[in-house]
Order: sequence, then structure tokens, then C-alpha cells
Amino acid sequence: MAKEYYDLLGVDQNASQDEIKKAYRKKAKKYHPDSNSDQADEEKFKKINKAYDVLSDEEKRKKYDQFGKAAVDGSAETGAGFQNLQDLFETLLGGGGGRGRSQQTADIKETITITLEDAYHGTETTITVKRQAACEQCDGTGAENGNTTTCQQCNGQGRVKAVRRTPFGRSRVVEQCDQCHGRGTQPETACSACSGTGTTQTQETITVDVPAGVEHRQRLRIKNKGNRLPNGETGDLYLFVGIKGDEQFERRNNDLFTTLEIGLGDAVLGAEKTIDVFGKTLSVSIPEGIQPGDVLRLKGEGMPGRRHDGDIYLKIDIDIPEDLDEQTKELFEQFRTEPTTENSFFDSVKDLAS
Ligand SMILES: [Zn+2]
Ligand SMILES: [Zn+2]
Repeated sequence: MAKEYYDLLGVDQNASQDEIKKAYRKKAKKYHPDSNSDQADEEKFKKINKAYDVLSDEEKRKKYDQFGKAAVDGSAETGAGFQNLQDLFETLLGGGGGRGRSQQTADIKETITITLEDAYHGTETTITVKRQAACEQCDGTGAENGNTTTCQQCNGQGRVKAVRRTPFGRSRVVEQCDQCHGRGTQPETACSACSGTGTTQTQETITVDVPAGVEHRQRLRIKNKGNRLPNGETGDLYLFVGIKGDEQFERRNNDLFTTLEIGLGDAVLGAEKTIDVFGKTLSVSIPEGIQPGDVLRLKGEGMPGRRHDGDIYLKIDIDIPEDLDEQTKELFEQFRTEPTTENSFFDSVKDLAS
């Protein structure tokens, strides 16, 4: 069982979420690079954040326990670290309700799963997401009939000055006004559909263009389809693409690998064959005397790439006839020879394009 992250936070492997959170806060405070503590240590701070990012998420934690760091690698880069920082600052600042709400993430993350064939051709798909959108009744103003007045708290500035006490001393900050959420205006009468917030929860079906050559785990950004915040800003929708395994082809980067089975006669004498690549027919010239395990390359016929298209690699498999009749057996008797040394895999790649 992987242990490093538990050690970093100084908790037991059976620690509850509560214990993990407490331990994280303590450690983060101690090592925070902006703290006056002589133990401030940015590297250590980052590591602690990463550990917390994984252990605070039951799913990631399970993966980590079973498979170690590699299984959760990259997870801390996806902005989750920021979430932790926000978590931390809210703890340090005593957690202001309005502040937390206005900083809620506006971006929405979703996943879609497509086939390799769809990834090869590119596809159009739809996804239904629940999102906070501008209220239709008041056009996002939050005001019945659209009538608003200047916010009294911020005099229409949308921002207010405040002094915050932090463990590192008092600091002056400019914050978003929590009365008007930064809009500078207040509804004269709150809109009945959205209670004056200007946003309502909607379910929207969004059409997504998935580009040809899309990669597994690639992130697609659909602008302005995230949540609308009380201040009127709207986040983006991020779609993470998952590509299902394919029966015929194995993909490595933009190259496609498959096996082509040919008859003994075709192997000995050479042949013209065709293969089907997701509906596209390609001809393949089998040279005379091809060996089992030889690999033919179809240059530029793999997955479409941003800079250049990938290749298709065909590993030759030769169908050796079985259960022959006596006559055919006699025929093969004439071909009995000592085997020659076999070519290595890479020597045997025959470049069809050259
Ligand atoms: Zn205000
Ligand atoms: Zn409304």
C-alpha cells in the first residue's frame, strides 16, 4: 500500500476525512511560503497540497492506496491545487460566506466517451449539463421589470475595501461587494423567477464538435457554457474525452497498430491486399517472401495529427494450412529447408511509402 502521502500529512492510513483535513490545515499553515515561520518551505508546501488533493478525494485515495502515485499523477495539476489553496485561505481568513460564494468555480467539468472510429473521423456529439444560466425572465439582472438601483453598500462600485486579520498579520484587501455580488446595482424588486440572483439552474443540451485526431484525455473547452456567477461572469465547460479501446486497432500517439493475416501463398509469392480503416479502403502491397512478424508501414494513414498524421503498422501473420491431404503434403515435402536466422522486429519494418 502506498504510504508517502499519508506520511506527508502525518496521518495514519486509516485516517478519517476529518483527520486528514485537520492535519492538512496544520501542515499547510506551517510550511506556507508566505508565512513568517522559519519553516516556510514552498516545495514541501506543494507536496502537502498534492497529498491532500489525493487523500481528500475518496476515489483518488482508493486508487492511490492500490496503485500508488502513478495512478493519481497529474490529478493535482488540473487545478485541484487551486481548490486547496482556496480551502486554505478560507480557513486562515475565517471563511467569509459571501466571499466563498462569489469565488465558487464557474467552470464545469464533464467527460464524454467516444469510439476510436469517432476519434479518427471527428464527430459531433451532444452532452446535457446542469448549469447556472442567466435567468430568462429578468435577462440576468435579477430585477423584476429590469428596474435596478445603485447598491448602497458599495455605491455602485461593486467592490469594497476591508481589513482582514490573517495569521500573517492584518492586511488590506479590496473585495467584491457581497450585497450586489460585484454588479454595483440592486434590483428594485427581486425577480420572482430567480429571487433576484439573476441566475437559474437549467439543464441544457450542448452540441460539441470533437475534432478528428482527438486524443484520449484531451480537454475540449466550450466557452461560456459553465456556470454564471452572481457577478454576471460565466465560466466555461471543459469536456474530457475518453476513447474506448478498439477491436481492430491499437493506438499509440497517432499511430495505429494491427495484425494482417495472409495466406501462405500470398506470403511466398507476394500479393495485393486491401484493409478497411474505419470505412476507408487502403491497398497494401505484400512483397514476395514476407515473413511472419514482418511489419508494413502505411505512412500517413493513421490518426489525423495536429502537425502530421500518424502511420498504420501492419504486423504480418501467416495462416499456415492445417489438415492437409496426402497430395498437398507431398507438395510441401519439396519445400523442406533449414530455417534461416530470423530478422529482428525493427529490421523487418518495410516502409511502403519509400
Ligand atoms: Zn454592492
Ligand atoms: Zn430573474
